[in-house]
Amino acid sequence: MRVSGVQLDLKQRTVTISISYDTSVPVACPVCQGQAAIYDHQKRRWRHLDTMQFKTIIECEVPRASCEDHGVKQLAVAWAEANGRFTALFEALAINWLKEASIAGVAELLHLSWDEAAGIQQRAVTRGLSHRRKQPLKQIAIDETSFQRRHEYVTVILDRSRDVVLDVLDDRKAETLEGWLRDRPAYHLTSVQSVTMDMWDPFIKAVSHCIPEAGKKICFDRYHVAQHFGKALDKVRAQENRWFMQTQGASPLNGTKYDWQRNSGRTDNRGRREFMGLSRMNLKTARAWAIKETAAHLGDYCYRGAAEKAWGELLGWIARCRLEPVKRVGRMVRQYFWGIMNAIIAGVSNAMAEAKNARIQRIKNMACGFRNRERFRMAILFHLGGLKLMPATLSNFVT
Ligand SMILES: [Zn+2]
Repeated sequence: MRVSGVQLDLKQRTVTISISYDTSVPVACPVCQGQAAIYDHQKRRWRHLDTMQFKTIIECEVPRASCEDHGVKQLAVAWAEANGRFTALFEALAINWLKEASIAGVAELLHLSWDEAAGIQQRAVTRGLSHRRKQPLKQIAIDETSFQRRHEYVTVILDRSRDVVLDVLDDRKAETLEGWLRDRPAYHLTSVQSVTMDMWDPFIKAVSHCIPEAGKKICFDRYHVAQHFGKALDKVRAQENRWFMQTQGASPLNGTKYDWQRNSGRTDNRGRREFMGLSRMNLKTARAWAIKETAAHLGDYCYRGAAEKAWGELLGWIARCRLEPVKRVGRMVRQYFWGIMNAIIAGVSNAMAEAKNARIQRIKNMACGFRNRERFRMAILFHLGGLKLMPATLSNFVT
């Protein structure tokens, strides 16, 4: 193999490097490595890293080997993946940029079409998924995240032990999750120690059908429990605010939505005199807030007995609180208490699902949305899948 020519086209601003095979040397069949005859040549072109400011193309008449056992096969080239239209070094450059910028941004930067840039991302993910070692699952988390509009969701499956996104499913139905679980070898499912999730019946159902002893392994973590109390609090606040506006024409609750939602443990909210004044007023919202705050701290318990006692007291308080949205969450906690206890005993933390969700929202913002769920899935796996994204032939160049 040698470089047989270099052509500079100033008008098109391209450099074309021609590579030719030595036709006197016998070739090996790419399947069995046995000696084979050259059948014919096929001209192929690859985009390579730019030479100065010029787009650089590698051109080669690649031989096709004719093997007695395997028929006619095109030889692999050292600088690109089979069927690729870019060299491995160019793909690696694009992949590195795709980690930092949107597909549209990378396409513009590298003078690619949008489809070409998206194709590089997609191939990288496909490659990574096929390389991913088929490891048994240990600690997983199942979470939903919003797709385009507010009420469209996808399911995100996380491997908590390895801190990666395993997959993204099209909806949040039981059958879809069950299909994904059943697709794995049985020993992957028997090895599962915990499954962290929200109190969402379709997920519970799918996991109970597929994972042995699911009743001991399903964990409703404090993050999701707290979310329900947060939503109930907001309903109470909105109702009470409306009542003030209708009867008094003014409301002390106006513009306070986020003050109540903030987790007081993380901010200096408690130091804010105004808010504390408000939270001490005889307001329904203040009562819902006190319950939410108390519930948030019950996740700190590590032992069954202490946790059961504290939750028992809180559930008694909730039953007497006369705030319907909060009482509804109380009933939910009673119904799913087994899974909340599982989470406490397993010491399952919420940090990972929360962090991944925030990163998924950032990926969405960077792309300004996705035209379909498959694109969304590709982007999440590309950024958060912990995949080996680089082309294998890259190792021919990088030592
Ligand atoms: Zn062969």
